[in-house]
Amino acid sequence: MKATIISNIQAVRQRIKAACNLAGRDVQDVQLLLATKTVPPEKIRIAIEAGETLIGENKVQEFRDKQEALQDLHIERHFIGHLQTNKVKDVLKYVSCIQSLDRIVLAQELDKRLQSEGRSLDVFIQVNTSYEESKFGVAPEAVETLIKNVQSYGTMHIKGLMTIGLLDVEVEKMRPSLRLLREIRERLGMPQLQLSMGMSQDLEPAIAEGSNIVRVGTSIFGNRFLGKEIWNENENIS
Ligand SMILES: *Cc1c(COP(=O)(O)O)cnc(C)c1O
Repeated sequence: MKATIISNIQAVRQRIKAACNLAGRDVQDVQLLLATKTVPPEKIRIAIEAGETLIGENKVQEFRDKQEALQDLHIERHFIGHLQTNKVKDVLKYVSCIQSLDRIVLAQELDKRLQSEGRSLDVFIQVNTSYEESKFGVAPEAVETLIKNVQSYGTMHIKGLMTIGLLDVEVEKMRPSLRLLREIRERLGMPQLQLSMGMSQDLEPAIAEGSNIVRVGTSIFGNRFLGKEIWNENENIS
């Protein structure tokens, strides 16, 4: 198990490097986030001991369950899943960044809680660039309004934009929803924003389109099929 995880990380790092070379980009400008949903703490620890420093979970419950086993590790923790407003208080115990801020009510709730704790938080605005009804994320047309709303509170620092691209077997079909995130950043006139996009299947086109954070699970930890249950938390299907 250990050898597999370590060689998988090396393979993913190699893919990132090759994609950067092809795009003429500096490999330092692309961070690897380990998407650790359903991954047990022992496996996460192997990846961290191999030198990784950034993880993302999709459920508050999973942060809670894994907290004790991983609390000695000096890592950065991001929330990357759909966040319900009633989980805001809890999630803030575990993370320094929420990548899935996608609606005004959630921004309001975060602000309220951050105010009362006297702290601030890094956030990414999640955008539904694939226009799939099943996906969370603010509509591309509504990004600017959401950003203005978030900025008006002063408790959240917008670090970037995040998307889950359209997955397809053909790279050329995946590219437009990734390119759109970069174009939205251009339209906003906010070149300082980072782009969080690219997963196991589409990290190459994501890097070609300017990704600064690729979020990888399957290519490192293997398949998430648990019996017959398929992880579809990022989709509105329940
Ligand atoms: C699961 C997940 C990933 C990683 O997907 P893989 O295909 O397993 O690499 C990335 N981002 C989000 C938001 C996820 O939920």
